[in-house]
Amino acid sequence: MMKSIVCQQPGELNFLESTKPQPKPGEVLLKIRAIGICGTDIHAYGGNQPFFSYPRVLGHELSGEIEAVGAGVDLPVGKPAYVIPYLECGDCVACRTGKTNCCTDIEVIGVHRDGGMCEYLCLPASHAVVTEGVPFDQLAVVECLAIGAHSVRRGEVTSKDTVMVLGAGPIGLGAAQFAKVAGAKTFIADVNDERLAFAKAELNIDATVDCKNDVKAQLDSLTNGDFPTVIIDCTGNPGAMQSTFGWLAHGGTLVFVSVVKADISFNDPEFHKRETTLKGSRNATKEDFEHVVTCLSNGSVKSTAMVTHKTSFDDFPAIFPEWVKPQTGVVKAVIEIN
Ligand SMILES: [Zn+2]
Ligand SMILES: [Zn+2]
Repeated sequence: MMKSIVCQQPGELNFLESTKPQPKPGEVLLKIRAIGICGTDIHAYGGNQPFFSYPRVLGHELSGEIEAVGAGVDLPVGKPAYVIPYLECGDCVACRTGKTNCCTDIEVIGVHRDGGMCEYLCLPASHAVVTEGVPFDQLAVVECLAIGAHSVRRGEVTSKDTVMVLGAGPIGLGAAQFAKVAGAKTFIADVNDERLAFAKAELNIDATVDCKNDVKAQLDSLTNGDFPTVIIDCTGNPGAMQSTFGWLAHGGTLVFVSVVKADISFNDPEFHKRETTLKGSRNATKEDFEHVVTCLSNGSVKSTAMVTHKTSFDDFPAIFPEWVKPQTGVVKAVIEIN
């Protein structure tokens, strides 16, 4: 038998006992060891995640040990692994060009199907990546960091760039770290003073930008009038996304990681005079995950620069309602299962 934490309906998490699953051919059975809590989980719990159905076992930021493998799978039992939670169809137009992150028919573990807030989880063996030398709590946030890493790759960031990451939440803190790894001069911007102070203390960034004050004026003085050559938006705020069109360097690139239920519009002469490049950035691919693991292993990126809270599997349902409140100061939380 095994225990799962089920989100029965918005605001309600329950323990459920079920039989331990068995891996089918091509699958792996993972003994879950750590689970990162993400905005998606918070929105699903809060009942404001569109197209979400209940009951659902949440959890898509996962690490664990290979417990057993199905027929035809050659993975070492007992070894640590992290999960790539995006299950792609493999033959749509995006998959055919290697862009599995934006598959037309994507299914995300813990979102569209039951996830990893449980003791054992079966998944396609191709989506469990054996990785030694990185602790489970860090492996659990590889997915979150990979989203930031992907946005930096989308921005084609190099050491010649000045990058502004807008939004100092977990994704933005990750993106800022990968922009630094790429060698760029990097600013992080937010309206929240505590988040900016956290970013300043934890990350080796070049400057913070206070979005409560005149952002354009701050960028003007930080860049001697050049403005950032890449802006990566991780705010989830339509107004902020719209403003980025006027904060970009001529010849620069905007990368929208955020997704909002709104239309974003821009002034065409402003867009045109800069020869603006505008890109979306969705999920991440295996290359991004591998880049994250390399950076965690060599210390160039720190998971501690975002994980502020931890709990055990047994305590999670009781503590989660507290963590959802902004005043708790959770940037990122991790559940550990021993
Ligand atoms: Zn996530
Ligand atoms: Zn596809």
